[in-house]
Amino acid sequence: MKNFKAIYLICCSLIFSSSALAIEICGNLAQGELIQAKAENSEHVFFNDKELSVLPDGSFLFALGRDAEPLQILQISTAEELHNYPLEIKTTDWDVQKINGVEPRKVTPTDLDNRKIDKEREDLARALSYHTKTPYWQNGFIMPVNKGRTSGNFGGQRIINGKKKSPHQGMDLAAPEGSPVFASADGTVTLSGGEYFYIGNVVVIDHGQNLSTIYAHLKSSTVKKGDKVKKGDIIGHIGKTGRATGPHLHWGASINGVRFHPLSLLKIGDKNFCSNL
Ligand SMILES: [Zn+2]
Repeated sequence: MKNFKAIYLICCSLIFSSSALAIEICGNLAQGELIQAKAENSEHVFFNDKELSVLPDGSFLFALGRDAEPLQILQISTAEELHNYPLEIKTTDWDVQKINGVEPRKVTPTDLDNRKIDKEREDLARALSYHTKTPYWQNGFIMPVNKGRTSGNFGGQRIINGKKKSPHQGMDLAAPEGSPVFASADGTVTLSGGEYFYIGNVVVIDHGQNLSTIYAHLKSSTVKKGDKVKKGDIIGHIGKTGRATGPHLHWGASINGVRFHPLSLLKIGDKNFCSNL
């Protein structure tokens, strides 16, 4: 794949070097980051061969996964031609998160637990696949917890009770049990409740253009599937349901199935993070 991309880069920079199209890129081109971009007159946009949803003004979003390769290809077609942009992605030094004292069954699930885990993954994947056209995300994001202490960052390699597990797919915000959890932006609830094995009680909100946020380990949720929420609305309360050693919110973010650091949502709309390609 890397060789293919290297050849593609050389080939396309030769063929398309004269076909400049003004593109604004907002965000940090680094692993685990959300990127907001705008290309006027764009008809179709592809990122790594996947077509993205593009608004009438040419705005679109994509994320660079935790392990995104150092060279990624952005393709933009206008009525006249196809433009190819190789993007150089900075690597990120992910930390190692050692967590001890987790209930052994939550580290080595039984067969019955594994069937529940399959259902959890299906429900979550379905909730993350909703795709409202309204770009609620354009109104910006806030932190979902007041005075939450970061107790686990996105991307960390997790060692739970001494066993190497999957990297952390969100960020953890520790706060007293029962503290309110807020919708970080406007949107539509696509999953609520669950008592799932890992994520416990959860709320998922769709913010449009396949961008969703996840709020896990809740003591309770106060919204239901289909509800429209506004940024700052209370959607539930801090708890420790699922796999958790203490009360905290696991805040996750996903676009087009790619998980990214939710803190990068806070940069949306901030021109300080924008530059032209
Ligand atoms: Zn977490």
